Amino acid sequence: MEYPTLITASSVAFDPLGVRINPEQTAIHECGHQFFYGMLASNEFEEPWLDEGFTSWFTYKVMERSYHSLLGGRRFQVGTNFLEWGDYWTLPSADPLTRFGFRTLDHLSYDSTAYAKPTLVLDQLEAMLGRPVMEQVMRAYAQEMAFHHPTRNDFRRIAERESGRDLSPFWRDFVEGTEVLDYAIRGAKSRDITEGGWLFSDKAPVFAAPQPAAPGRVGSITLERRGGIRAPITLWVRLENREEQRLVWDGQDRWITYEFDSPVVAAVLDPDGNYPMLKDRLHASYTPMPVRRGFHYWAQMVWGAVAGWMLGCGIG
Ligand SMILES: [Zn+2]
Repeated sequence: MEYPTLITASSVAFDPLGVRINPEQTAIHECGHQFFYGMLASNEFEEPWLDEGFTSWFTYKVMERSYHSLLGGRRFQVGTNFLEWGDYWTLPSADPLTRFGFRTLDHLSYDSTAYAKPTLVLDQLEAMLGRPVMEQVMRAYAQEMAFHHPTRNDFRRIAERESGRDLSPFWRDFVEGTEVLDYAIRGAKSRDITEGGWLFSDKAPVFAAPQPAAPGRVGSITLERRGGIRAPITLWVRLENREEQRLVWDGQDRWITYEFDSPVVAAVLDPDGNYPMLKDRLHASYTPMPVRRGFHYWAQMVWGAVAGWMLGCGIG
């Protein structure tokens, strides 16, 4: 819990997995409040994301720098914003960030809009502006607004001034909006180009056996926009003829199909990680190669289960 110049955090008696929530994450989080609720003193009831959200974003940054993960051993890691990610996607669209804290749908939605979504939204802003500019924005916001009770409009004004960017679309989609950023690769197809078949003219139809024709086998890939946020998104593809292409889809329609002179053998949506808020990374990549489930696959599955069980018992 946070009080001016005093923080409290609990610990746990039995923690075999070493989850870094208590006291590590809590202590860092409550320290963060000294700045956002203490020094900047934004309105934590009417705009809780400026206090809890900013604090959560910095908590995740500090945790990442100090511990690298929330939970993890040599074999797997759980990211330091894992809980925020889970909370946001449990209830992403009930309330915008601009909702008064005491007017959210319920407590779950308060958690999502005050803590979880702003953590991801500030990450999204950092991905847009770049880390040096984001640091400049945060520094200017803290220095200028200390003891001035800033509102979200102060943050926007300072962010736009420091970055030289118009943040209107970002503000509309992520701060005032409740839609989600959800794109996926729907599927890819390939087919043979042939010449021949039935030829119709004013005489009797003639049949010629179909023959392969240039360019031979062609491919296509279909993307879909499953969420309400329309933002341009990059697609990287590698074709069977070893050619690579990068395309940008404006995302205005619900779907688009791109045709290529050769079948698609690999594709990645948002290959540069411009959208930390993209919902579904699992369907943001594609390969037609079958999953190989040979000896190594099953050996790893069995060993993973044993190692997980040992870790769960505190002996991993
Ligand atoms: Zn807090």
